[in-house]
Amino acid sequence: MHLLVVEDERKIAEALRSGLEAEGYEVTTAASGEEGYFCLTTDSYDLMLLDLMLPGRDGMEILRTVRSKGITTPILVLTGRDTVEDRVLGLDSGADDYLVKPFAFPELLARIRLLLRRGVLEPQHLLKIDDLELDLLAHRAIRSGQTLDLTVKEFELLAYLLRHRGHVVSREMLAREVWQVHERSTPLDNVIDVNMARLRRKVDGPFDRKLIRTLRGVGFCVGEPVHG
Ligand code: CA
Repeated sequence: MHLLVVEDERKIAEALRSGLEAEGYEVTTAASGEEGYFCLTTDSYDLMLLDLMLPGRDGMEILRTVRSKGITTPILVLTGRDTVEDRVLGLDSGADDYLVKPFAFPELLARIRLLLRRGVLEPQHLLKIDDLELDLLAHRAIRSGQTLDLTVKEFELLAYLLRHRGHVVSREMLAREVWQVHERSTPLDNVIDVNMARLRRKVDGPFDRKLIRTLRGVGFCVGEPVHG
């Protein structure tokens, strides 16, 4: 894991470097916002620690520039400012997390670990097949550019099918994973079928290419598009 530390105070920067290197991270330091921005656009980092009080372009400006360029590297802001307004401004400007100086090193480590985990998981919030896209964070389903109006259950159902695309999903799996019910029962099977029917009307109804398939007596499958 390669971390970029943007901090103008040499002592703090060096303390961060040695502490983080001792934890097994590879660390590059930059002493100004310009240098930090240059590093970020010329090399790849897993996370940036960004001090807000920097000479020249300050951290907030760097933050906005980075995000406006579409760079999605997780950013943990370090700052001496601790007013709520600054915190909100930082997060609104694209910081992923915020740590007020002075902070305890173990807390910094914990937040770095959290952000790195989230960073690794991030691409998984989008599930796609064909022209259908599910955004798990925004809770939005779009097919062919049209937003589908799904209930919470229908959305969960579709997300489950997409996570298992190409595989047959049984009613039993749906009962267990989507409805959190562990015993098979006929009424629940009916509920599943009703939801599935509604979901198919919304996902496949208006489109020629059908994405959800029923395998009689077995379950459902999203995968190979069925024509006609
Ligand atoms: Ca500083």
